[in-house]
Amino acid sequence: MTRILKGAEVVEALNARIAAEVEELNAAGVVPTLAIVRVGERGDDISYERGAGKRAEKVGVAVRNVLLPAEVSEDALVSQIEALNADASVHGVLLFRPLPVRINEERVRNVLASAKDVDGITDLSLAGVFAGTQTGFAPCTPAACVEILEHFGYRLEGKNAVVVGRSLVVGKPVAMMLLGRNATVTLAHSRTADLKQVVAAADIVIAAVGRAEMLNGDYLSEGQVVIDVGINVTEQGALVGDVDFAHAEGTVAAITPVPGGVGTVTTSVLMKQVVQAARRSVV
Ligand code: NAP
Repeated sequence: MTRILKGAEVVEALNARIAAEVEELNAAGVVPTLAIVRVGERGDDISYERGAGKRAEKVGVAVRNVLLPAEVSEDALVSQIEALNADASVHGVLLFRPLPVRINEERVRNVLASAKDVDGITDLSLAGVFAGTQTGFAPCTPAACVEILEHFGYRLEGKNAVVVGRSLVVGKPVAMMLLGRNATVTLAHSRTADLKQVVAAADIVIAAVGRAEMLNGDYLSEGQVVIDVGINVTEQGALVGDVDFAHAEGTVAAITPVPGGVGTVTTSVLMKQVVQAARRSVV
């Protein structure tokens, strides 16, 4: 029978740990604080902001919403981030992307101090993930994938892991994080030959493709543990992952659902990293 790796279970365990750490920090006079920087009025950003606000409240992380108009200049945005870097009462900064196309996103994201880069967007944080050092933080989504695998007790050492998708936000960093845990990692993408066989041969599959239900029964095999990062909306308006859940269920050993899997854990990982940033700021 296929085990459904529900994000809610991971969130509950994470939240309890985070709340305990927040209590310790509060006792030392520190309130872990996340600044959320939003440019414009994108619906996705607003709904994530709302969800993050609720999760933060639950665990005792304070949120400061920094709202900038869609027409904000690049220099004004850079100044805003520099002000947050200099503000000792802010421990972490989440900057929604993509930014408007006229803004040089590479310049803006790299202005953020790596100590406050709780969603791993700076080159320095990514270098930390690749080097396996504690510079900055890992991006929250890849970190959520690893958190789920570890929470449910799946050992990565010596396992064959296939990551489908090589973006800088998900695929590449999660591949490095699995490698750092001694998995043997294949990073697959749109030019990978024999993708079906490559995926079917894996013990662990991380799907980060952005194509609704692409990984169907032809890609999956018995005994696999599947983490579905994909968030896609079908023509009928249903929210589905990159894995064909109906075919996976009954075949693979375990799979994360969409919704209710990686996405929900990502927000708690964000809170965990804000609290870590606050701890690092006081030692
Ligand atoms: P992305 O930047 O569009 O990257 C997609 C990757 O998939 C690319 O590397 C691309 O290969 C590969 N790909 C596309 N079509 C393929 C195919 N037919 N066969 C094999 N590989 C293929 O996407 P992303 O930002 O990484 O996001 C991936 C998915 O995760 C999306 O559904 C997104 O909504 C979701 N997501 C979820 C969360 C969360 O918290 N759960 C967070 C972020 C993203 P090439 O490089 O060769 O083009």
